[in-house]
Amino acid sequence: MSQDIFVVAEHLKGKLADVTFEMLGKGRELADARGGNLVAVLLGNGVKNLVTEMGIANRVISVEHASLENFNPETYSTALAEVIRAKSPAATLVANSSMGMDLAAALSIRAGLPLVAYAIDVKVEDGALVATSQLYGGKLNVESQFSAEGAVVSMLAGASSADKGRATGSPAVEDFAPPLSLASPKVRFKKMIEPEGGDVDITTKEVLVSVGRGIQSVDNIPQMQELADALGGALSCSRPIVDSKWLPKTRQVGKSGVKVKPKFYLALGISGAPEHIEGMKDAELIVAINSDPNAPIFDYAHYGIVGDLFDIVPLLTEKAKA
Ligand SMILES: Cc1cc2nc3c(=O)[nH]c(=O)nc-3n(C[C@H](O)[C@H](O)[C@H](O)COP(=O)(O)OP(=O)(O)OC[C@H]3O[C@@H](n4cnc5c(N)ncnc54)[C@H](O)[C@@H]3O)c2cc1C
Repeated sequence: MSQDIFVVAEHLKGKLADVTFEMLGKGRELADARGGNLVAVLLGNGVKNLVTEMGIANRVISVEHASLENFNPETYSTALAEVIRAKSPAATLVANSSMGMDLAAALSIRAGLPLVAYAIDVKVEDGALVATSQLYGGKLNVESQFSAEGAVVSMLAGASSADKGRATGSPAVEDFAPPLSLASPKVRFKKMIEPEGGDVDITTKEVLVSVGRGIQSVDNIPQMQELADALGGALSCSRPIVDSKWLPKTRQVGKSGVKVKPKFYLALGISGAPEHIEGMKDAELIVAINSDPNAPIFDYAHYGIVGDLFDIVPLLTEKAKA
């Protein structure tokens, strides 16, 4: 096993995801602590222009093939497993994103390496790599020490700073021959289904009143909308609200929704699962109302109210209208 730390670059439509820079920043720290190299692995087709954005890496391993043009867990995990077998990194960091969750699990099987999922941190302790994973919606943290063979680690977005990993430069590029099996994959990309447009763009709003399963019924949406209107903001939500079709997908904040950065984010009846936090943690001021004092959202809120939102929302609306 080498001392190198590999980071799998996640990109979509020609743009590197923020989480890639977060992992590069973390990877740099780990590679330096172990005296190894930070190596970015870039899979795709015609995406080498992204290399210069990963100047923090010592080297970029590039695998290019038509079947890697769009994300495909089969072709991506096959190609990556070959790279890992050939290079034996100490750890391979993959985003714990919608794509990365598919990829990391398949990669772990194909490369015959353990998978540490939902990681919020990785550090070097007495020479060994130790990852901290956040489980049960952030209620439990688990530490895992890697065995000597290395591991695949899927990192939650937002766990570390993306700015630490952003650096332009010209890292050396190593072209890695794509495995022959990529020519006839069983899984094929058909088309990208874009979310419908036409609704309010919550990414541009300065005030968001965000509702979660705690609002209990679609009948309570107008009451929450009234508060959003009184505050001059828009209504956003957690995923179960979209899954129940109480609000359109365009209003969903989080991993599989959108990232927002309003001046004021009011979370009503939202527990604070990592997938939701990922989308709103950068809001300037976060206030949460939740009846459960142990709800993880309170770890991220600047101010919290433990109580029944149906008691508090009318009072806030009245104040905001005054
Ligand atoms: C791949 C993947 C992607 C995902 N993407 C997203 C995403 O983009 N966005 C997202 O939000 N989630 C996403 N999720 C789902 C996420 O894991 C959580 O299930 C979800 O965020 C929980 O939503 P919630 O907080 O509204 O509901 P719950 O977790 O059920 O929380 C409801 C909260 O309301 C509180 N409550 C209940 N009644 C009241 C009351 N009267 N007054 C005050 N508080 C009350 C409860 O105490 C509880 O904390 C994703 C999951 C996966 C696996």
